[in-house]
Amino acid sequence: MTYIHKIDSDRCKGCGLCVTICPKHVLEISEKVNTKGYFPAFQARPEDCIKCALCCSMCPDVAITITGAEDADQTQQAASTEDNDG
Ligand code: SF4
Ligand code: SF4
Repeated sequence: MTYIHKIDSDRCKGCGLCVTICPKHVLEISEKVNTKGYFPAFQARPEDCIKCALCCSMCPDVAITITGAEDADQTQQAASTEDNDG
Protein backbone atom coordinates (compact mmCIF):
# COMPACT_ATOMS: atom_id res chain seq x y z
CA MET A 1 0.00 0.00 0.00
CA THR A 2 1.33 3.38 -1.01
CA TYR A 3 0.07 6.53 0.62
CA ILE A 4 -0.28 9.74 -1.31
CA HIS A 5 0.00 13.00 0.57
CA LYS A 6 -1.71 15.81 -1.29
CA ILE A 7 -2.24 19.51 -0.63
CA ASP A 8 -5.07 21.28 -2.42
CA SER A 9 -3.27 24.59 -2.83
CA ASP A 10 -6.43 26.44 -3.81
CA ARG A 11 -8.08 25.53 -0.48
CA CYS A 12 -5.02 26.56 1.50
CA LYS A 13 -4.98 29.94 3.21
CA GLY A 14 -1.31 29.81 4.11
CA CYS A 15 -1.88 29.88 7.86
CA GLY A 16 1.25 27.79 8.40
CA LEU A 17 -0.24 25.50 11.04
CA CYS A 18 0.73 22.41 9.08
CA VAL A 19 4.26 23.72 8.61
CA THR A 20 4.56 24.19 12.37
CA ILE A 21 3.08 20.85 13.37
CA CYS A 22 5.02 18.66 10.94
CA PRO A 23 7.62 16.70 12.93
CA LYS A 24 9.71 16.04 9.83
CA HIS A 25 9.83 19.60 8.47
CA VAL A 26 8.36 18.46 5.18
CA LEU A 27 6.23 21.51 4.56
CA GLU A 28 6.99 25.12 3.73
CA ILE A 29 5.00 28.13 2.60
CA SER A 30 5.25 28.83 -1.10
CA GLU A 31 6.39 32.15 -2.52
CA LYS A 32 3.71 31.94 -5.21
CA VAL A 33 0.12 32.93 -4.56
CA ASN A 34 -2.80 30.60 -5.25
CA THR A 35 -6.06 31.53 -6.97
CA LYS A 36 -7.36 33.16 -3.77
CA GLY A 37 -4.31 35.29 -3.22
CA TYR A 38 -2.80 33.26 -0.38
CA PHE A 39 0.66 31.76 -0.17
CA PRO A 40 -0.07 28.03 0.12
CA ALA A 41 1.87 25.31 1.86
CA PHE A 42 3.73 22.80 -0.26
CA GLN A 43 5.90 19.72 0.25
CA ALA A 44 9.43 21.05 0.22
CA ARG A 45 10.84 17.69 1.34
CA PRO A 46 8.27 15.06 0.36
CA GLU A 47 10.81 12.25 0.74
CA ASP A 48 10.84 12.89 4.49
CA CYS A 49 7.08 12.56 4.96
CA ILE A 50 6.12 9.69 7.26
CA LYS A 51 2.37 10.05 6.53
CA CYS A 52 1.61 10.66 10.18
CA ALA A 53 -1.42 12.79 9.17
CA LEU A 54 -0.80 15.45 11.82
CA CYS A 55 -0.93 18.12 9.15
CA CYS A 56 -4.27 16.78 7.86
CA SER A 57 -5.74 16.95 11.34
CA MET A 58 -4.39 20.42 11.96
CA CYS A 59 -5.49 22.12 8.75
CA PRO A 60 -8.60 24.26 9.42
CA ASP A 61 -9.47 24.29 5.74
CA VAL A 62 -9.15 20.53 5.15
CA ALA A 63 -6.71 21.22 2.35
CA ILE A 64 -4.47 18.22 3.07
CA THR A 65 -5.41 14.62 2.44
CA ILE A 66 -3.62 11.31 2.62
CA THR A 67 -5.09 8.59 0.48
CA GLY A 68 -4.09 4.98 0.18
CA ALA A 69 -3.35 3.53 -3.22
CA GLU A 70 -2.73 -0.13 -4.05
CA ASP A 71 -0.36 0.83 -6.82
CA ALA A 72 1.75 3.97 -6.93
CA ASP A 73 1.51 4.05 -10.71
CA GLN A 74 -2.24 4.37 -10.63
CA THR A 75 -3.41 7.93 -10.20
CA GLN A 76 -6.95 7.10 -9.31
CA GLN A 77 -8.72 9.19 -6.75
CA ALA A 78 -12.23 7.98 -7.43
CA ALA A 79 -12.88 6.51 -4.02
CA SER A 80 -16.57 7.29 -3.86
CA THR A 81 -17.55 5.38 -0.77
CA GLU A 82 -20.53 7.30 0.49
CA ASP A 83 -21.96 6.25 3.80
CA ASN A 84 -25.68 6.13 3.39
CA ASP A 85 -27.14 5.34 6.75
CA GLY A 86 -30.84 5.60 6.92
S1 SF4 B 1 1.91 13.59 7.14
FE1 SF4 B 1 3.19 14.05 8.94
S2 SF4 B 1 5.31 14.01 8.16
FE2 SF4 B 1 3.95 14.16 6.37
S3 SF4 B 1 3.81 16.37 5.93
FE3 SF4 B 1 2.08 15.82 7.29
S4 SF4 B 1 2.78 16.23 9.39
FE4 SF4 B 1 4.59 16.14 8.03
S1 SF4 C 1 -2.82 24.20 7.73
FE1 SF4 C 1 -4.04 24.06 5.83
S2 SF4 C 1 -4.59 26.20 5.34
FE2 SF4 C 1 -2.91 26.27 6.85
S3 SF4 C 1 -1.03 26.41 5.58
FE3 SF4 C 1 -1.39 24.23 6.00
S4 SF4 C 1 -2.57 23.48 4.21
FE4 SF4 C 1 -2.70 25.71 4.23
